[in-house]
Order: sequence, then structure tokens, then C-alpha cells
Amino acid sequence: MSEKKRRFGRRKVCRFCADPTLVIDYKNPQMLKSFVTIRGKIIPRRITGTCARHQRELTTAIKRSRMVALMPFTSVD
Ligand SMILES: [Zn+2]
Repeated sequence: MSEKKRRFGRRKVCRFCADPTLVIDYKNPQMLKSFVTIRGKIIPRRITGTCARHQRELTTAIKRSRMVALMPFTSVD
């Protein structure tokens, strides 16, 4: 665990607030992946800089995405 991130006064802006084209979609795991660790844990917003509102949407989307896409029932590949 070497996720030491220094914030040197640089204002962190929520990625979703900054980019209106970026939509939180549970059907888009590619995008959601950048907000979870390799282990699949959701990265806290103080690290990603995501605002509370979008972080909550993100959390919901990731959970939903897990339910529909990461069901270890059938082996597709
Ligand atoms: Zn936001």
C-alpha cells in the first residue's frame, strides 16, 4: 500500500463536475475502473477528488456494475 498522495495546495476538482461529458454509468466498467483499486475497493474521494454527490453516484454505479457484470456464476471466457 504505497498510495501516498501529496496535495500541495493544488485545488482538486471533481472529475465529473469538471467534465460534463463524463457520465457515471454502471454499464461502463471501463470508466468505473479508474475509481476502484486493483482489488476492487472503491477509492475514497479525498484521493480522487470527487465531490460527495458524484462519489455517491459512483459508489452506487460500481455496486450495480458488480451485480450485473461481475457475477461469478457463468464462465464467459
Ligand atoms: Zn462532482
